[in-house]
Amino acid sequence: MVIGCSIFAWVKLRKPDKAQEVFNSEFKNIENIRKNLSEIFEKDLSTKEADELAKNYKKICEIKDDNEYAEKLFEQLKKDYGFKNSHIKLSIENFNSANAPDWTASHTDLGYLVRISRINGKLADRESLFDSLFHELKHHKQFETAIATDKSAFEDALAHKKLKEYTKKQINSNGGEEAVINWLKEQSRPYLQPEFDRIEREIGQLPKDSPRYKKGLEYINAKRNYIQESEIVTRNKEYKNNILEVEAYRAGELAKEIFGWLKG
Ligand SMILES: [Zn+2]
Repeated sequence: MVIGCSIFAWVKLRKPDKAQEVFNSEFKNIENIRKNLSEIFEKDLSTKEADELAKNYKKICEIKDDNEYAEKLFEQLKKDYGFKNSHIKLSIENFNSANAPDWTASHTDLGYLVRISRINGKLADRESLFDSLFHELKHHKQFETAIATDKSAFEDALAHKKLKEYTKKQINSNGGEEAVINWLKEQSRPYLQPEFDRIEREIGQLPKDSPRYKKGLEYINAKRNYIQESEIVTRNKEYKNNILEVEAYRAGELAKEIFGWLKG
């Protein structure tokens, strides 16, 4: 009887312990962080997973050295976006000019490099770097989706985008549009192939009735109709309305919110 009572008492005492297993985060905006990260990484994160990611980002934000901060952030994002085995790299480049912009960042069309610039010896501020690395790696996610949708259509779209950089005269003296397109595809293939192989291995062909496939078709079309890089300033509205940029800027905005919430 005494033993029975003890067990009963023990069971009763265990109950409040279980209730305490409800997740307790150090971030008071953890629910917002979870929502933002889930949208950015295109997966449904649990609060616990979001908390782990937020802790990693917070730690990175505490790094004193600018280059190390950018490199560690890039590595973390590479993992969180799902590019652990990707060949994509970060390149920090010097850009010295009296008329230099505040900062520049880009994702190369061939998908092997994200570039950020050290303008007149200085990297962008921490928040801008946070924003722009989330932005540029979002482009790599789109790149991955487009390839898993239809890699030859994507290759073709890239070549057509590049073709805009050539004059009619240059195209005609090099055998016409088709010949130049084929040549451009040959030039880009060595850069694309490693990611083609990885995406084939990790994702394969997206099912035609999946939402991601539909997005992939939109991305391919948007890449084909993308304005020339040199026209970003003069045709800024068109540039900002391209679905590839709409999504990447959104990822950057969501990241900036997270940046603020990491502080407390
Ligand atoms: Zn962009």
